[in-house]
Amino acid sequence: MYDVKSMKAEEFINHDEIMDTLKWAEENKSNQALIKSVLLKATEMKGLDHREAALLLVADENLDDVFGLARRIKEKFYGNRIVLFAPLYLSNYCINSCSYCPYHVQNKNIDRKKLTQDDIRNEVTALQDMGHKRLALELGEDPVNNPIEYMLESIETVYSVKHWNGAIRRVNVNIAATSADDYKKLKDAGIGTYILFQETYKRDSYEKLHPAGPKSNYSRQTEAMDSAMEGGLDDVGIGVLFGLEDYRYEYVALLMHAEHLEAAHGVGPHTVSFPRIRAADDIDPGKFPHAVCDDVFEKLVACVRISAPYTGIIVSTRESRECRERALSVGVSQISGGSRTSVGGYLLPSKLAQTENTKQFDITDNRPLEEVVAWLMECGHIPSFCTACYREGRTGDRFMELCKSGEIHNCCHPNALMTLEEYLQDYAGEDTKEIGEKLIKAELLNIPNKKVRDLITEHIKEIKNGSRDFRV
Ligand code: SF4
Ligand code: SF4
Repeated sequence: MYDVKSMKAEEFINHDEIMDTLKWAEENKSNQALIKSVLLKATEMKGLDHREAALLLVADENLDDVFGLARRIKEKFYGNRIVLFAPLYLSNYCINSCSYCPYHVQNKNIDRKKLTQDDIRNEVTALQDMGHKRLALELGEDPVNNPIEYMLESIETVYSVKHWNGAIRRVNVNIAATSADDYKKLKDAGIGTYILFQETYKRDSYEKLHPAGPKSNYSRQTEAMDSAMEGGLDDVGIGVLFGLEDYRYEYVALLMHAEHLEAAHGVGPHTVSFPRIRAADDIDPGKFPHAVCDDVFEKLVACVRISAPYTGIIVSTRESRECRERALSVGVSQISGGSRTSVGGYLLPSKLAQTENTKQFDITDNRPLEEVVAWLMECGHIPSFCTACYREGRTGDRFMELCKSGEIHNCCHPNALMTLEEYLQDYAGEDTKEIGEKLIKAELLNIPNKKVRDLITEHIKEIKNGSRDFRV
């Protein structure tokens, strides 16, 4: 039976409740009075429950209203800022058998690699030299090759590298579901967000796609965020791999998961990621029957933005520039840029990195970080390298409180400008710098409080004179 507060996977991600929700939404997809009442509720910008959200997803006659509202919510909570990050692959050793990932244990075509601490220092130096301040560490599940101690040592190494003016100020971590004790160790190591994708919430499909290995345990995967919260990690990132199952099912379940975290722990997910299945060694996306087209992808982003307004939405370089542009306008708040998805990929020349056989998936947006930064500015966004919240202790419910009241904007906007100025000074070419300086000048005028405006203007001058790492 459905119970949002239960700690059992089958009760908070309840199959019957999902099927009833989808049936109810389908029956009401032309009920304009009901749809309008849901849209009206959504204009309060406090989110929707999974039933209301399901109705929005099928209300095709109201698509313009849905996109318009998603844009307004994005603007209210996130303004025009887009946070940038990069993945760093530490190891592709894995004992699982996920049929959509080339790192699965049966794949003998690929080389298995694990970065040493020296390799990590070199990769992080390359990432810092691009301008990155925020990383997501990725590695397969393998207690022998990738034990928790390896991850902890690697986090310490990443934070310790300071090349020229560079620094990684926030390390997010994507590792397999583990115990509350291990999560506590990650918390103590100073990670930002703990990220774990459910892949698919549909239990029978999940079990088929994960025939062996510890990840085959559906409950372990689904209940992992509860263990993470128990271990003290209060910023968690969820997501599904679109293409594995019917997207409507995944969407409703994803929102039920968010509702569960809020109901059981008082804090919803910090981020929702939107990966779609991509080609890779031994992986043919054509073999997965639930492909999601760009139009549906954009609609999903918009509906999640409306239903969970306080949650960051992430789209990676799996997606094309065009698709990212559409998704950015309806709700995405964070993207990766200049990414390499192979183990040790940042030290390879770009052509080699594209053919490297340790990469987890094909990248569609291959542009270097500076091109991504310039493109964002040309599209009217402020590229942000901000990492302030975690470092100021604004995590979990403290973060959500500021976010729900809209006050977080008073931190995000100045921090975006100051970190962009750092980027322009340290890493940008002349053309990018020119666009950026104009943008910062114009955006400083949008800081409403004169005292804050003067302070940030002063900090921008100090950054130009060589100071670094201001934050509010
Ligand atoms: Fe291993 Fe993760 Fe790939 Fe599954 S998705 S095979 S757990 S690296
Ligand atoms: Fe993210 Fe906090 Fe920086 Fe805003 S101030 S961009 S929420 S880290």
